[in-house]
Amino acid sequence: MNKKVFFIFTISALAVFAFFSQQGFAQDRRVLAEAQRVTGDSFAFRTRTPKGANVYGVIRPSSNVLRAIDTGLTDLFAVARKNGYRNRLNYSNYSIYIGKADRTKDSTGQYSPDFAIGSAQYAGTIYDQGGYIYAAGMVIANDPCSFVIAEHTRNFERVADVVRYEGEHLVLYHNDRRRYAATADHSRGGGHPILQ
Ligand SMILES: [Zn+2]
Repeated sequence: MNKKVFFIFTISALAVFAFFSQQGFAQDRRVLAEAQRVTGDSFAFRTRTPKGANVYGVIRPSSNVLRAIDTGLTDLFAVARKNGYRNRLNYSNYSIYIGKADRTKDSTGQYSPDFAIGSAQYAGTIYDQGGYIYAAGMVIANDPCSFVIAEHTRNFERVADVVRYEGEHLVLYHNDRRRYAATADHSRGGGHPILQ
């Protein structure tokens, strides 16, 4: 390969790289816009967990929260492998948006940061609070794998659980579409954990 050809090859490789990283950026922008629409929050902070998951926060996420996210994903990947699933089992495949909680206590007074979201298909179910339901987490995009959770200042085991549970929907989406479809809508019964 002469120098000129090599140079052109390098240029085109760079162009392809730029194209894909721009696509990634555009996807991030799209999901970010959706996270902002769903939560009404703006996510000023972007960081990574120690194991490489992408995290967006309204405020700077604490190291306890970042570690809890990694714990939840570690548990998720372990149970996914146990079920024979192989796709999207890297920390960097996941983006977690941490939004402001709409409540911090549940009806029994337990610390339970949650979002209020429109009831939609949950209207009239036990979850319905009169037009809205409370949820600890919510998937906002299947690809790239993205979900929102509520800000926690304590009870970080709950963060790990919510991450694992929301992640179940995403692992199923990318590994077992039939099981995904059967378990995605909790208003028809069933909850978490889905994977044992
Ligand atoms: Zn769920």
